[in-house]
Amino acid sequence: MAIPTSRTTVAAEIQLDPERCTGCGLCVAVCKDNELTLVQGRVALSGHPVFGCIGCGHCMAICPTGAVRILGRTLSPEDLFDLPERAAATTYAPLHALLQCRRSIREFQARPVESELIDKILAAA
Ligand code: SF4
Ligand code: SF4
Repeated sequence: MAIPTSRTTVAAEIQLDPERCTGCGLCVAVCKDNELTLVQGRVALSGHPVFGCIGCGHCMAICPTGAVRILGRTLSPEDLFDLPERAAATTYAPLHALLQCRRSIREFQARPVESELIDKILAAA
């Protein structure tokens, strides 16, 4: 069973590799479907999920050793990426200024847009 959405109706597939698990418990803490547990210090399926894996990916993203993989519900381990350094993240003031300066553009100029710029926009989206 899983919560159906407009994107998919089936539960995601959970793949665990207990050999790579250090037993930190991070994946268990973030899963609000109670899919995961620790058995003798290693990750395991709890056997009593609430609805079925919704494919949120939090467990896979937070696991420091790659011991959890989630597939399905339009999610894949290939979607993971390394987070930027904290120092590269913005702070409140520039983020607030960016939001304040944002405007919807409804008129366009007839000139080409570099493909590199389009790629950057799509990556950000
Ligand atoms: S993808 Fe989400 S719902 Fe599924 S096991 Fe991981 S944290 Fe739980
Ligand atoms: S986050 Fe990874 S290492 Fe930590 S308990 Fe879960 S599977 Fe094991």
